[in-house]
Amino acid sequence: MSFGTDFGIDDLPVRDELRGKSPYGAPQLDVPVQLNTNENPYPLPEPLVARIAERVAEAARGLNRYPDRDAVELRTELARYLTRTGKHPVAVENVWAANGSNEVLQQLLQTFGGPGRTAIGFEPSYSMHALIARGTGTGWISGPRNEDFTIDVTAAEKAIAEHRPDVVFITSPNNPTGTAVAADTVLALYEAAQAAGPSMVVVDEAYVEFSHRDSLLPLIEGRPNLVVSRTMSKAFGAAGLRLGYLAAHPAVVDAVQLVRLPYHLSAVTQATALAALEHTDTLLGYVEQLKAERDRLVTELRATGYEVTDSDANFVQFGKFPDTHAAWQRILDRGVLVRDNGVPGWLRVTAGTPEENDAFLDAVRELMKEQE
Ligand code: PMP
Repeated sequence: MSFGTDFGIDDLPVRDELRGKSPYGAPQLDVPVQLNTNENPYPLPEPLVARIAERVAEAARGLNRYPDRDAVELRTELARYLTRTGKHPVAVENVWAANGSNEVLQQLLQTFGGPGRTAIGFEPSYSMHALIARGTGTGWISGPRNEDFTIDVTAAEKAIAEHRPDVVFITSPNNPTGTAVAADTVLALYEAAQAAGPSMVVVDEAYVEFSHRDSLLPLIEGRPNLVVSRTMSKAFGAAGLRLGYLAAHPAVVDAVQLVRLPYHLSAVTQATALAALEHTDTLLGYVEQLKAERDRLVTELRATGYEVTDSDANFVQFGKFPDTHAAWQRILDRGVLVRDNGVPGWLRVTAGTPEENDAFLDAVRELMKEQE
């Protein structure tokens, strides 16, 4: 069957708020050095690959049955990981898991946002927060940041009081700027959100393992409207696995189950994630290497004459470019793909292997010479 090309999305009866919009689309280009999507550059170690094969084979024998709908074993292991690294005891009842933290965030917006409700984020920040809001029919409010990309607490409190959003997103460390958020700031915004709402505060800690600061996880204690969202895509080097999770009061875990699809986490996903969690220590070893490389990128970029935003993540925001897109293209011409997140003047590079970072640094040194 063939279809004419004169028929497109806008000819379909799609929801009004989706008309004329574009999907999330970090370019997936086949270039030698790909430092654009904040992935971990290290493939999983062979012993872990073998363990995944074993656990997946075991799961495969039971694939005629639906998986554990509540993913109890996996949530128990995630709780153990959080307790060990988060300086706060977390139990299985506090943890929920889904296919990537994007799905966790979607479930949170389906539960606490939705038509007639709003969410606020402090931008520039992770673009999917606004896109997931749109997909769930939640109104989006773009909150302010300071010049140095920290959250302007007074302006944020004011925006929360004025708009009374149902969900407040705080991304720490923030993407694309790399900026970590102080616990005091989260507490101030939580108070503001409770006074205006009460509303949910979602702390997106996708990159927290790379931070100089501790996780904000202990703040969930005594704050039932605070949720911390995490992922195995970055620190665990398992972006392809699609496993995200949250920690919060058990009532939040009960609430998101009202919207989750039954059996949303496949038996294969659960088995793979459990295998990866058995190798936590090795994987966190790579995180240490990446942090050192991230710090090297910051130092070298500054030494070359670039402005660099302090980074607590596995990526670095650098600039400033009079023509951001042209700079992105010049770096790409040298075989290195970085990210233009649409922040005027700034680009973002993910910390890769030492060799990849060298290639990137060579490219930006040449670019600086061209500009002089
Ligand atoms: N939060 C932030 C801040 C991110 O940058 C990302 C990925 N780029 C995610 C959440 C989603 O990650 P995933 O769905 O792979 O867990």
